[in-house]
Amino acid sequence: MGVGIPVDVVLIPVGDVPWEPMERLKEELERRFRSCSIGDPIPIPPGSYNPRRRQYLSTAILRSLLQLNPPEGVKVLGVADVDLYAPRLNFVFGEAQLGGRCAVISLVRLRQEFYGLPPDEELFRQRTVKEAMHELGHTLGLRHCLNSGCVMFFSNSLMDTDRKSADLCPRCLNILLRAMRGGP
Ligand SMILES: [Zn+2]
Ligand SMILES: [Zn+2]
Repeated sequence: MGVGIPVDVVLIPVGDVPWEPMERLKEELERRFRSCSIGDPIPIPPGSYNPRRRQYLSTAILRSLLQLNPPEGVKVLGVADVDLYAPRLNFVFGEAQLGGRCAVISLVRLRQEFYGLPPDEELFRQRTVKEAMHELGHTLGLRHCLNSGCVMFFSNSLMDTDRKSADLCPRCLNILLRAMRGGP
């Protein structure tokens, strides 16, 4: 179901990211937004690495993405293939500025291999789209939704992610469309 959200999305590889999941994600988001393109990669900010945790601080990556200074109506989604964390959390699938212009997701924990399971490309692709849609939803001003089938449902684990859809529930879609009509 394409909702055609009137926003242009730019995907930015953060560090080394394989081409295939970027292309797949672009195809999926093209069906859901006005447009989606892949921009030039940026390096992982060196200061984001925490050697004790062996993870990268997602907020530091968001700050780097913000420096790209995307124009009004453009949402920038960083895609990283390193494990991300936030203070007080063991890890994060992604982070976004609520109502802002930038978000980031990590691919690492979306792969079955991370959990010692055999690869499942289709599952990996679905999870990537869901995490991307969720964080982009935050940039569009949407908060978490209590509907466990809605992409804005908070995923505590991949079980939650796998259960929910990749799209907004009618309530979230309504909130979004109303905000866009009333917005500047
Ligand atoms: Zn969220
Ligand atoms: Zn919802």
